[in-house]
Amino acid sequence: MEILLATTNLHKIREFKEMCKAFAHLEILSLHQFPDYICPEEVGTNFKENAIFKAEHAAKHLNRWVLADDSGLVVPRLSGKPGIYSRRFAGLEATDEENRKKLLLEMRQLINKEDRAAYYECCLALSSPIGLQKCVQGICEGFILNEARGRNGFGYDSLFVKNDYEKSFAEIDEAVKNRISHRRKAFERLSAFLENLRD
Ligand code: IMP
Repeated sequence: MEILLATTNLHKIREFKEMCKAFAHLEILSLHQFPDYICPEEVGTNFKENAIFKAEHAAKHLNRWVLADDSGLVVPRLSGKPGIYSRRFAGLEATDEENRKKLLLEMRQLINKEDRAAYYECCLALSSPIGLQKCVQGICEGFILNEARGRNGFGYDSLFVKNDYEKSFAEIDEAVKNRISHRRKAFERLSAFLENLRD
């Protein structure tokens, strides 16, 4: 059975394809295979609303099963920023590096590790052409470094260290990140549903 990932983010696609290997009956497609589809603007006020909106919109317009991921980094001492604006924190067309630079700048007065606490959140919404079927959430708690470390991953990974770990998400192997991440935790909550999903 085909499931379309409602994203063009190559990192997310790779992480999902890896996780979906456990489900031999699923074939994972991405929006790269639907270049004419125009993604709607994200207008939700939280990750859940955005994930559901993206999944339902693509499922309805492309008439197929769609899995959408809305995720980001939350820093409580910055009142939850960058949050749902993680991808465009430093501007609509900002690069990951520009977003990281802005985050470090906004956190420059926060010296203690407790003040630098942060978590990644991931909401996954699965929709069929007739509407939402399942929505799950996963979080991964840690803290933000004073400077970037490592070359793997994407987004804020080189600044994020998971609690009880020493290496940043960009210093650990992708296979390890895939076992402990917010995305994995959300995905696990979808597993039983995916296991039984057939055309
Ligand atoms: P979305 O594509 O609107 O869901 O925004 C996702 C953004 O959140 C990414 O562009 C990153 O800035 C951040 N993000 C989400 N998940 C991760 C992750 O696993 N690692 C690093 N950054 C992430």
